Amino acid sequence: MQKTRAILIGRMQPVHNGHMQVINKILEEVDELIIGIGSAQISHEAKDPFTAGERIVMITQALAEMEVDPSRYYIIPMQDINFNAIWVSHVKMLTPPFSIVYTGNPLVKQLFSEEGFEVRQPPLYDRLHLSGTEVRRRILEDDDWQELVPKATADVLAEIDGVERMKNLSIKEISEL
Ligand code: NAD
Repeated sequence: MQKTRAILIGRMQPVHNGHMQVINKILEEVDELIIGIGSAQISHEAKDPFTAGERIVMITQALAEMEVDPSRYYIIPMQDINFNAIWVSHVKMLTPPFSIVYTGNPLVKQLFSEEGFEVRQPPLYDRLHLSGTEVRRRILEDDDWQELVPKATADVLAEIDGVERMKNLSIKEISEL
């Protein structure tokens, strides 16, 4: 029987427990999942502090922590392009064929729906706390951010001095106001 293959695209700045729970849920529904690391060209900015490579390590190691079979997923970095109308073609060019799109992002939903894809909205897990914005806020304010992320994300931040990077970036941006 043909395998069902789906895609989930996220900036994942950084990878947090909401991403991992949604990936877990999707893998209960489909055979294979393409995990697109969105805005791959952006890093070292307050809203996008981590490189695509750093985000790939976070997600790869978090999936290993969850003991997900590596033959069930593909992790692919994806640069943004300026043209929303041809973004779906750009994504298709970079990925194995897929038929289902999982997203909570209205623009992503709109663009894939217009191209005839089945779009599914996964449940939101504790969105008040499990969002990149909240994790980044807690990191900058020395609040407990580790409880919101898999161990792999905390390990990557320790390896790259990620907390210091974020604090330096925020100082720079404030001084530029
Ligand atoms: P994100 O990391 O905020 O979220 C990714 C996905 O994770 C969401 O769709 C959501 O379903 C899920 N998620 C996040 N928190 C969750 C929680 N608590 N519980 C359950 N699920 C949760 O990323 P995003 O902003 O949606 O990423 C979209 C990417 O697509 C961006 O990089 C954007 O630039 C890119 N994009 C590019 C173009 C273009 O280049 N023209 C067009 C559209 C989108």
